[in-house]
Amino acid sequence: MNTDTIAAISTPMGEGAIAIIRISGDEAIEKANVIFKGKHHLTEVDTHTIHYGKIIDPSNGQMIEEVMVSVLKGPRTFTREDIIEINCHGGLVSVNRVLETILSLGVRLAEPGEFTKRAFLNGRIDLSQAEAVMDLIRAKTDKAMNVAIGQMEGKLSKLVSKLRQALLETLAHVEVNIDYPEYDDVEEMTHHLLLDRAGFVRDEIEKLLITAKQGKILREGLSTVIVGRPNVGKSSLLNSLAQENKAIVTDIPGTTRDVIEEYVNVRGVPLRLLDTAGIRETEDVVEKIGVERSRQVLKEAELILLVLNYGDSLTEDDEKLFEVVKDMNVIVMVNKMDLEQKIDMEKVKQLAGEHPVVTTSLLQEQGIDELENAIASLFFTTGIDAKDATYVSNTRHVGLLNQAKIAVEEAINGIESGIPVDMVQIDLTRAWETLGEITGDTVHESLLDQLFSQFCLGK
Ligand code: GDP
Ligand code: ZN
Repeated sequence: MNTDTIAAISTPMGEGAIAIIRISGDEAIEKANVIFKGKHHLTEVDTHTIHYGKIIDPSNGQMIEEVMVSVLKGPRTFTREDIIEINCHGGLVSVNRVLETILSLGVRLAEPGEFTKRAFLNGRIDLSQAEAVMDLIRAKTDKAMNVAIGQMEGKLSKLVSKLRQALLETLAHVEVNIDYPEYDDVEEMTHHLLLDRAGFVRDEIEKLLITAKQGKILREGLSTVIVGRPNVGKSSLLNSLAQENKAIVTDIPGTTRDVIEEYVNVRGVPLRLLDTAGIRETEDVVEKIGVERSRQVLKEAELILLVLNYGDSLTEDDEKLFEVVKDMNVIVMVNKMDLEQKIDMEKVKQLAGEHPVVTTSLLQEQGIDELENAIASLFFTTGIDAKDATYVSNTRHVGLLNQAKIAVEEAINGIESGIPVDMVQIDLTRAWETLGEITGDTVHESLLDQLFSQFCLGK
């Protein structure tokens, strides 16, 4: 295994004024010591201690930066290797100079995700936990962060391990059956037991898959478009949501698309306000491009906020908008309730059908709570609490769970139709292996490289 010493700038979450440079590997402490001037030599201090000092340029003795250095000796570290963390509070320039100085000593710049990859390869974390590190970096809301933390703590791994254990026990029974085919009662028992265990595994996988949709939203945000006629208050709504809920804008390297996105956090539900070709806020989309095309354009949205004017009668354009969004997730918002009523609320409710209708005045800041409630309850329909649930939010995991479910179902069908048990064994083994790919127990090197290269630098 590659055990050279690596380093990178590892900016903490929330991006404070402090930057951390992390060095990991056999020579981490020794190399850091060369450029560190403090009360003690870093090579002589206890593990898990922090030291104040200066980073100097070894070629001329000049001070580059005042720092706090943490010395963490393996294996009680993230990578299980020796780790040095240098906390710099100067600007980006001096941080980069410190890093360059370290690299000049023959330390290699870490590849994206390499620290986490080492943690995985050294058995510190399993694959789903490594992926959770990446989710954490990308987390848009507290809830999303809880999910990632839960996963990092191994919630998903534990569940998956439990299911694999159940499959393994089942396979053991199948084995007995194959070895002693002459005992009828063994076969009888095997049949019942197989159905029971396989059924259990299938049900548990199904439960996990139900959380996948919510997990995806927590991770990626609910793609949202605000529609309505001119002047009904779309921009005001956007501003109000963004102000009250502190838009979190993260830039994830390599994922920036042409679409401009803005995140707002409503009761823990991240809304990703889409601006595909300027339709985040659409007034004349129907008029301009027609009902069919606008339906196409809006198709990407998972939530539509349809805004109407309380102080104005419904128009043909309003009705067209209802028509366009009728099969989508819609919340109807009748804004400007501070004005004299001109709108026919009976008609609005009739047009809205099943969709919730809320009345607001953005001007007087009324009804915004109700709107946020409507958004939150739309999302948390199943009543799953993000704190306790084991969410599956990772596309790779969802794919593997689906495959495993199919394999188990094939096994169940096989048992029921009485095919030879060794055929059932094949399906169950496949399910067992597929689940193992989630935790990385059965996984290929190329997949690892691909996965870890998606990480941000310095993690
Ligand atoms: P948009 O064209 O749909 O984006 O509408 P705007 O958000 O630009 O709002 C149009 C006008 O309506 C602005 O002058 C807003 O200040 C005003 N407005 C927004 N919300 C309300 C409201 O609840 N009551 C009243 N009276 N005016 C509002
Ligand atoms: Zn506007």
